[in-house]
Amino acid sequence: MTHDILLAGAGLANGLIALALRQARPDLHVTIIDRAAGPSDAHTWSCHDTDLSPEWLDRLRPLQRGRWSGQDVRFPRHARRLSTGYGSLDGAALMGAVADAGVRILWDSPIAALDIDGATLESGRRIDAQAVLDGRGAEPSPHLVVGYQKFVGVEIRTDAPHGIDRPVIMDATVTQQDGYRFIYLLPFAPDRILIEDTRYSDGGDLDDEALARASHDYARQQGWAGTELRRERGILPIAMAHDAEAFWEERLTTPPPVGLRAGFFHPVTGYSLPYAAQVADIVAGLQGPITTATLRGPIRDFALARARQDRFLRLLNRMLFRGCAPDRRYTLLQRFYRLPQPLIERFYAGQMTMADKLRIVTGKPPIPLGTAFRCLPERPLLQENA
Ligand SMILES: Cc1cc2nc3c(=O)[nH]c(=O)nc-3n(C[C@H](O)[C@H](O)[C@H](O)COP(=O)(O)OP(=O)(O)OC[C@H]3O[C@@H](n4cnc5c(N)ncnc54)[C@H](O)[C@@H]3O)c2cc1C
Repeated sequence: MTHDILLAGAGLANGLIALALRQARPDLHVTIIDRAAGPSDAHTWSCHDTDLSPEWLDRLRPLQRGRWSGQDVRFPRHARRLSTGYGSLDGAALMGAVADAGVRILWDSPIAALDIDGATLESGRRIDAQAVLDGRGAEPSPHLVVGYQKFVGVEIRTDAPHGIDRPVIMDATVTQQDGYRFIYLLPFAPDRILIEDTRYSDGGDLDDEALARASHDYARQQGWAGTELRRERGILPIAMAHDAEAFWEERLTTPPPVGLRAGFFHPVTGYSLPYAAQVADIVAGLQGPITTATLRGPIRDFALARARQDRFLRLLNRMLFRGCAPDRRYTLLQRFYRLPQPLIERFYAGQMTMADKLRIVTGKPPIPLGTAFRCLPERPLLQENA
């Protein structure tokens, strides 16, 4: 039997593609394959409301386990409340919706080999399809130079109300350590809160226990006693240089990648939900037959356009990682959060205008000019990485 669409990996990118496809093309049979036993509870996928189109906000709203009408940031010399809405969904809700939409999900099915006509599972079973997309998570590439956002989050049930009524996107008043350090808070209920100790560091190593302890220490300092319910960990790529042309040149004969595997993430945050929604719209919006070949062009076009648009964000990362002493990195973010709210929203949505970019880099330079100039070219980092 040949399936219409085969999506390798039951993650965020393919979950959104499946939802959008089933709505736009209910005639197509969509199959997702994943090596895991079922949806993971080790993820909370969040984003700002302004990162998503109104259609995606409506689609995801019923799935969200947390929704807030504002957010806070805290820095040593600046604190701010923004009215930008924020929401979170988890793997179980997303995959539940995907299954309800009529998508076939094969769990416990590690893929040994993927090609443009289908997948061969480790069990030896072969699954053929007209169209194949590869959403099996990040893989290193010489054409994408990254730093890391690393975090361990503990979700606790507090013995008494914790008193936080909206997300704290960054509490950078904590001791700076291992690069730019902040605490991220998501209050899911008056007595349930996710506390995530996050570091923007050069190396990809993560001491889970140390960061989990740091999150618990933070809870204690706030006076929150309670029980740990769940943990999540991440080592997210932060893009510093990207040669998208070369990246896609190497993928002319493979199933098109999507999600982190394609480098579709916000260069500064490592978050991929907004870009995943945009790619899902492209896939679901295709007219005529959907095959691996008809998918490749539009996804690659999106990638190249995105990489061009994100050039400035990668420059900011180079300034953050290469132009700033690790314990001073927070000053760049502190300065950024003094800018107007619509600019901040466009920054997270990856939709900055030329005026926004100028606004970010003008004024008193956050790092010495000579250092800033050294950060300008992208090519040397790609050459170092080759
Ligand atoms: C803990 C955590 C929290 C995050 N929070 C956010 C957030 O709040 N907002 C946001 O936008 N981003 C967030 N991210 C970053 C990023 O958006 C996520 O990593 C997102 O899940 C990436 O989506 P993806 O579809 O590319 O990959 P994934 O969602 O990781 O999906 C990849 C899937 O492929 C499967 N797979 C891999 N290899 C095989 C194989 N050989 N055979 C079969 N299946 C395979 C895996 O089991 C997995 O289910 C977070 C990341 C982590 C780790």
